[in-house]
Order: sequence, then C-alpha cells, then structure tokens
Amino acid sequence: MRRINFTMDEETVSLLGSLADQFYGGNRSLAIRAAVESLAAHSGHAGWIITGFTPIEIESETQCHCCHEAFLPGATLFRPVFEKGVSPTALQELPTGPWLDCSKCAGGHL
Ligand SMILES: [Zn+2]
Repeated sequence: MRRINFTMDEETVSLLGSLADQFYGGNRSLAIRAAVESLAAHSGHAGWIITGFTPIEIESETQCHCCHEAFLPGATLFRPVFEKGVSPTALQELPTGPWLDCSKCAGGHL
C-alpha cells in the first residue's frame, strides 16, 4: 500500500464521499480503487496484450493472421504470447483459433 496525494474539486470530493459512504462503508480508498478498475474495464484498455512471439515451423500451408500472406510448409511463423495488461490495443477476450503471424506482422505488434 502506498499513500498518494492528488487534487480534486469540491464537487468530485463530495461525490467520492457519497459513493464511499453508500457502497464502501465510508472508505474512500476502496471507492477510488473501484472507480479506477471500472474505468479500465470500460475504456477497453485493460485486457490481453501481446508481450512476445514464439517461432513455429509450420507443417502445412498457413496464412499469416494479419496480412493473410500464405506460407509453405517449413516456413517459420510466430505465435503470439498474451499477458494481462493495459494498452490501447488490449483485447477484451483471448482470441480463439489459430493465430500465426509472419515476421513482418509480428514485428509490427511489438
Ligand atoms: Zn503478415
């Protein structure tokens, strides 16, 4: 836990107070935390982000997930590694189905 100071106008302070009283037993810290979590969830920025790629040697003809270029067996494509995180490009849900990128598209994600 860390103590932080920030400045809010009187209206926001009283709104925070009434939300804290109504839902969090008067605990303003809990109310702020819930507000920030809700903001992150609703602005679509908290989710799954690509943090790296694993190279895969393909065994059958496969299209790049992003540019749809076809690659022949034996070529190396890249499978994304997802982690929970916050980013403007975060995905709300983990993608289902195969996802293999060519080296150019994989480079564009990182
Ligand atoms: Zn591609």
